[in-house]
Amino acid sequence: MMTLEDCQALDHNDALRALREQFDLPVGVIYLDGNSLGALPSRTAARVQEVVKSEWGCGLIESWNKAGWFDLPNRIGDKIGQLIGARSGEVVATDSTSINLYKVLHAAMSMCRDKASTQRVVLSERSNFPTDLYIAQSLCQQLGFDLVLVEAQEIDTRLAVGDVGILMLTHVNYRTGAMHDMKHVSDAAHRAGAYTVWDLAHSAGAVPVDVHGDGADYAVGCGYKYLNGGPGAPAFVWVHPDHASRFWQPLSGWWGHAHPFQFETAYQPAPNTQRYLCGTQPMLSLAALECGVDSLLAAGPQAMQALREKSIQLTDLFIHLVKHHCTELGVAVVTPQEPAQRGSQVSLTHTAASPSDVPSAYAIVQALIARGVIGDYRAGDPQAPAHSSAAQNLMRFGFTPAYIGFVDVWHAVAHLREVLVKEAWKHSNFMQRHAVT
Ligand SMILES: *Cc1c(COP(=O)(O)O)cnc(C)c1O
Repeated sequence: MMTLEDCQALDHNDALRALREQFDLPVGVIYLDGNSLGALPSRTAARVQEVVKSEWGCGLIESWNKAGWFDLPNRIGDKIGQLIGARSGEVVATDSTSINLYKVLHAAMSMCRDKASTQRVVLSERSNFPTDLYIAQSLCQQLGFDLVLVEAQEIDTRLAVGDVGILMLTHVNYRTGAMHDMKHVSDAAHRAGAYTVWDLAHSAGAVPVDVHGDGADYAVGCGYKYLNGGPGAPAFVWVHPDHASRFWQPLSGWWGHAHPFQFETAYQPAPNTQRYLCGTQPMLSLAALECGVDSLLAAGPQAMQALREKSIQLTDLFIHLVKHHCTELGVAVVTPQEPAQRGSQVSLTHTAASPSDVPSAYAIVQALIARGVIGDYRAGDPQAPAHSSAAQNLMRFGFTPAYIGFVDVWHAVAHLREVLVKEAWKHSNFMQRHAVT
């Protein structure tokens, strides 16, 4: 059994402890929602102010050249590339995850249509993040593909049917935190003649990814989760260099042109991932995103390995303490307990009759937030098979190794236990549903 003293000792010996100084977190808050919105890096406010006052206010239009604005999507892309195994020039930071997914899925569909094959299925997981499925639905309608949704364990069998052109998956599941073996799944897809599109929204900055070694053809990811870029931060897109120059992406705007400032009439795409830019990029948001990415790179040359090691220790500790202190109070761990099979979050269920139609899991999260322990709630899908994790209402807790410590984990579980023992969650305050859960 781990004690508070054990946790204090772990914090004391934590080589990444100093990284916490790179973030401004409110006093008294244990922030376990960095998987949804990363915390504010301490440098961001001053950097954004500098961009506003100096680069924009004084430099005016000259800053496109002199302050390096024009190149910023590439400069940040290269930094993100270091976290996902991409080489320089292969990643751009731009637009949102949804929009980037639209671009890469369209390009992957163009590759399928270019081949003589009749593989016209986009295969994905039923429990994938809805926006990914919505984007796929639109493109399938437009380009005559079929979207087929299966459970994770059915992917290999479905690939074997032979009609799958594209396997589109999210590496770490947003609800359960379950992580695919990217190499194993990509290899199976390639054996079946399919291209792979990976969404790294819950991976980039949380777990090491090797887009080259793990067999990705296309990848997108999010800037405001573990990359700490701020609300609505630009996302990123990576395309395998073998494919990058073969097809237009569908949003062929001038920033993706080979010579944007020659203002030619005819579109001619830039020779690499640069073509995945569309229009003028948001410099203020990109400046904030760069601070977020820098806060991770501060973990050193092996940043992702070091962060992952601590992330596993944190999630192991949380699972251990929850099982020990909260099992008899109706709490169960949904996230895989084998570290290789999970990302940096742990999801829990709670079984109890609720005094109102608000589920207990929702009310418990609200009661924890009132105590300064911030996690979030994701409703179960009423159409999913009754005993599957997709059907269950979840309490999600993200463990961002850059700013969460072992004592934080200890206190979070102590609060959870107290909320349950005292039935504090049954208070009417915690039974009000907000728009964003
Ligand atoms: C967070 C997340 C997104 C977010 O997409 P936006 O376009 O930024 O709203 C998309 N896909 C997955 C898997 C996510 O986790």
